Amino acid sequence: MKKIAEWIEAPSGGDGTPIIFSRRFSARQGLRRAQLLITSVGLFVAELNGRRIGDEVLAPGWTSYKTRIPLKRYDVSEGIAEGENLLSVTVGPGWAVGAIGIAIPHPKRNYSDRVKLIARLELTYEDGEREVLTTDGSWDSAEGPIRASDIYDGETVDLTFSPRSLGKAAVTDFPALITRDEGAPIREQERLAPVAVLTTPKGERVIDFGQNLAGYAEIRIRGPRGGVIVVDHAEVLDSDGNFYTDNLRYARCRNEYILSGKEDLIKPSFTFQGFRYIRLTEYPFEHVDPSAFRAVVIHSDMKRTGHFSCGNPLVNQLYHNVIWGQKSNYIDVPTDCPQRNERLGWTGDTQVFCRTGALNFDVSRFFRKWLTTMRDEQREDGAVNCYVPMIAEGHSRISAAWADAACIVPFEMYLAYGDRRDLAKNFTMMKKWVDYMHGAGPEEFLWLGGLHFGDWLAQDRDDVSDDAPTYLGKTPTDLIASAYFAYSTSLTVRAGEVLGENVEEYRILYKNVVSAFRARFIRDGKLLLLPNGWKEGDAIPEDETQTGYALVLTFGLFEGDAERRRFADRLATLVRENGNRLTTGFVGTPYLLHALSENGYVSLAYDLLLQKEAPSWLYSVTRGATTMWEHWDGIREDGSFRNPNMNSFNHYAYGAVYDWIFGVAMGIKPCAEAPAFREFSLAPHPDPRLGHAETSLETKYGRISVRWYYKGETVFYEFTVPEGATAHLTLPSGYSETLKGGTYLFAE
Ligand code: BGC
Repeated sequence: MKKIAEWIEAPSGGDGTPIIFSRRFSARQGLRRAQLLITSVGLFVAELNGRRIGDEVLAPGWTSYKTRIPLKRYDVSEGIAEGENLLSVTVGPGWAVGAIGIAIPHPKRNYSDRVKLIARLELTYEDGEREVLTTDGSWDSAEGPIRASDIYDGETVDLTFSPRSLGKAAVTDFPALITRDEGAPIREQERLAPVAVLTTPKGERVIDFGQNLAGYAEIRIRGPRGGVIVVDHAEVLDSDGNFYTDNLRYARCRNEYILSGKEDLIKPSFTFQGFRYIRLTEYPFEHVDPSAFRAVVIHSDMKRTGHFSCGNPLVNQLYHNVIWGQKSNYIDVPTDCPQRNERLGWTGDTQVFCRTGALNFDVSRFFRKWLTTMRDEQREDGAVNCYVPMIAEGHSRISAAWADAACIVPFEMYLAYGDRRDLAKNFTMMKKWVDYMHGAGPEEFLWLGGLHFGDWLAQDRDDVSDDAPTYLGKTPTDLIASAYFAYSTSLTVRAGEVLGENVEEYRILYKNVVSAFRARFIRDGKLLLLPNGWKEGDAIPEDETQTGYALVLTFGLFEGDAERRRFADRLATLVRENGNRLTTGFVGTPYLLHALSENGYVSLAYDLLLQKEAPSWLYSVTRGATTMWEHWDGIREDGSFRNPNMNSFNHYAYGAVYDWIFGVAMGIKPCAEAPAFREFSLAPHPDPRLGHAETSLETKYGRISVRWYYKGETVFYEFTVPEGATAHLTLPSGYSETLKGGTYLFAE
């Protein structure tokens, strides 16, 4: 893209307090069209003659700013007056300049020392004349009412403050490419009214919005000039009913306002919080009128495409929590959580949930943009960081099951949307990631060693206490890393086949990795959890984990039916011996139910789905959760919290269970040969404990829907297959048929 204008910055400041850049210009009669091209280092809000341009928030989002920044484009024809006009753009620190990253103190100015702006306004007149106004040294810079802004800490807005000039802007530079905007813009998507105004036992005034979410509170108020409002945020109340913020760690999550004396609509501009409750830590009135408050839900634009409901209210609430986990964490980047000092694009969480994400919303644009960032940041040697975008501070870790997002996400998006061009764009990245693993350890065809997150947060170790938390599960990381090496290689081969590439080398590699995996970890038909660093002659442990079996079964690392059955039986036994409860973490959980149901244990998979005691999906539901929790038991039976250093109540990873509900309980799975659900298998597995269930998904070919319900012993099925699509039906009895576009009824 050719240079559109000069980058500008304020002569001073711009690293904590947002800067207002402005320029007056005149327009004459006969304007046909006006277009604004704009982007910033930092986040911008642009105004024309005092009116906000567009309705995006947190623009231009978060990319690998070192390499590229998306250009935003607005048609501003309507806003331009004949005569004098004022274009003003406030740029706040956001992700580029403000604090981001988990180190303490938070690393700041990760991508730039100060905010910068680049803009170009093009006026086209009826008579064909064109005038162009670009950012340059003629623009003014000033500080305005937003006195401080930070993603983690929140914002301070003084509405009594009159802008203070900093002088003419200085022309500067920024190395990133300015590119086409591929992403899905972030907008205010919903507004929720309070469900209660509480006074807590500590005497604090708290508003409950009834839903954990990401966004901010908006207040419409006429207060005394100089009156102060301080709003704090929390996801939960403690067991006494008090406002609980310990799990926000080092994120202050506080918005402060000084009122103008006129009616103000107040909300932050360059930050967001993860919350269900707000505390009015300072408020200039005795009485709190709930109608003055709204929780504004923000997330990237994504069309809702999927729906599910069934006869079990707890499962319905679980599904609701999955949806809200996604809404809260798909904010330009797929994040782990929206509340504490983290909110990073953790690749592990992302790959785990992305299939489910695509069953709920159209996330094709959202991931197209994120994968571009990942490609930009992939190291020369193929390594992919544990979160994307990367932060300049470093903190890089190359972990199996996290970096494998480089193969898993592109392939899942291909299955969901069938776009070969997207797959082709990511194919080199996939190969490079596999090449990295190929050279990563002392053994060519295994990935031994390395620094991994393992089966993060699994519940299968005995040596963990809340005072000495170890988040790595029991399944050795050598086994996990080598299993993912095989899996990602297999996806690369499949992607290459789709693209008509020669993937012979990767096909051979895959065979070698599987044999090496089997030679080390499977002996005499037994899966061995050899500890990292294990050498021939060392003792062989007797340990087993649900995650170990789930991986080997799902990634096809077994040999023959007998071995498969044996592993599935062992997995089922481990689950039963644990009282029909799971012990898996981030790695095992997404595969656990699939590994059971694909091997004859559908009913046991339902037992796990419907289990209410922790660890289980429904435990948090019984505790009133409105989003997915990071830990299975973030709030324990006795009401106490897990260690606040890692206890998010809005972490979607375990929400990946919806891909089992959709794919197995409802039975819809896309065929790789005819992706985007042009062909799909349709093999529902009803269970009387749900009574009835219905799901639908809007695909490129139209709406697929499946409904089943029990009448006595008989199950009735209703299927809708879109025109142009084909479903390969198999009912539980074994009856099979190919269904073309239409609606079908069955009973058995
Ligand atoms: C995040 C996770 C992430 C993990 C890496 C955590 O702090 O919240 O969800 O995947 O670190 O293990």
